[in-house]
Amino acid sequence: MSQRAALMFKRLRNDFQLSIITLMGIIGVLGISPYAVYRLLHGNLLVGIADAVIVLSTLSAVVYAWRTGDTEKPGLYLAGVFSVGSTLIAINLGVNGLFWIYPLILFNFFMVSPGKAIAATLLVLAGLVGHALWVPGSVFESHYQMISFLVTNAMAGVLTFIFAYRTRIQREQLQLLAIQDPLTGARNRRAMNEELKIAVSSKRRHGRSYGALAMDLDHFKQINDLYGHQAGDQVLIDYVKLIKACSRQEDRLFRFGGEEFLLLLPDTDAEGLESAAENLLATVRDNLRGPGGPVTMSIGGALLRDDEPWSHWLQRADQCLYQAKSSGRDRTIIDRPTVNLTPSH
Ligand code: GH3
Ligand code: MG
Ligand code: MG
Repeated sequence: MSQRAALMFKRLRNDFQLSIITLMGIIGVLGISPYAVYRLLHGNLLVGIADAVIVLSTLSAVVYAWRTGDTEKPGLYLAGVFSVGSTLIAINLGVNGLFWIYPLILFNFFMVSPGKAIAATLLVLAGLVGHALWVPGSVFESHYQMISFLVTNAMAGVLTFIFAYRTRIQREQLQLLAIQDPLTGARNRRAMNEELKIAVSSKRRHGRSYGALAMDLDHFKQINDLYGHQAGDQVLIDYVKLIKACSRQEDRLFRFGGEEFLLLLPDTDAEGLESAAENLLATVRDNLRGPGGPVTMSIGGALLRDDEPWSHWLQRADQCLYQAKSSGRDRTIIDRPTVNLTPSH
């Protein structure tokens, strides 16, 4: 298999929306274009054009999605085109066209959020029923048929909604689990590596400045040894709550070791990093209580330099943390050429 094909398969495997849009492209070309040709040849211009628009829209959405990697806009566009197209076809063909509404419902739920899909379904049904009442006999052969159609559609719509909604919630939970530390709720090491990489490229592209604080609790092992692991866990939970409460909304907290944390601070200069560190240090000293009394921490900080790999940045913050530990703990050391903060007490 060529490298290009292997790459395409990988994208299809990893991107569910892209694979659905692509599948619809194939179905559109193979399944709908014969209808378009047939309708146009038999003089049914409206349905023929609707079919042709659906096929061409699908193809352009597929190309757009593959080119840009954005599946949201083409998804919304396709859901709209398919809904309007199917409604027009059903109005024109009557019962023969109604069968298309069932796959349309499924398709919309695959393409857009459950809320938008249910709204599209309701609009389609309203359009069909509205037209049927306006021109009796145009869409349905009887009221009985119309009611049956509405009831079966409502069932299909509600069941699909429940399924799609559940799937969405589960996917969000999975995404959260993949980046979160289960004990404290801080982000995990994997998320940290990703965010540090993003910070490096954002600094390179947009010149955004970033600071990082590596933080480690002082003599934490003693808490475990004297009061048990559970007491230690509770201190970690309280600690994360405290740090989250006194850092900015845009700051990100990661747990990257047992009791080692990293705070990533976007748009922060040297002074900002220093004062944030001092503030956190004082807050922890004044508020964090273990079973044996106050708990303190040590901090090492570093600003991201131009063209610096993220691992080097992290290493500099870590070295400062190590210095803070070896020079007495409960203090901050920021990696700046000239400034080393001495203990603030
Ligand atoms: P220092 O001031 O030098 O940092 O001393 P320390 O005792 O805090 O340092 P050290 O890194 O040696 O100890 C970290 C301890 O953290 C060891 C480990 O048992 C404990 N630990 C790591 N993960 C967890 C956890 O999830 N829960 C609990 N309760 N303890 C943990
Ligand atoms: Mg420690
Ligand atoms: Mg440690």
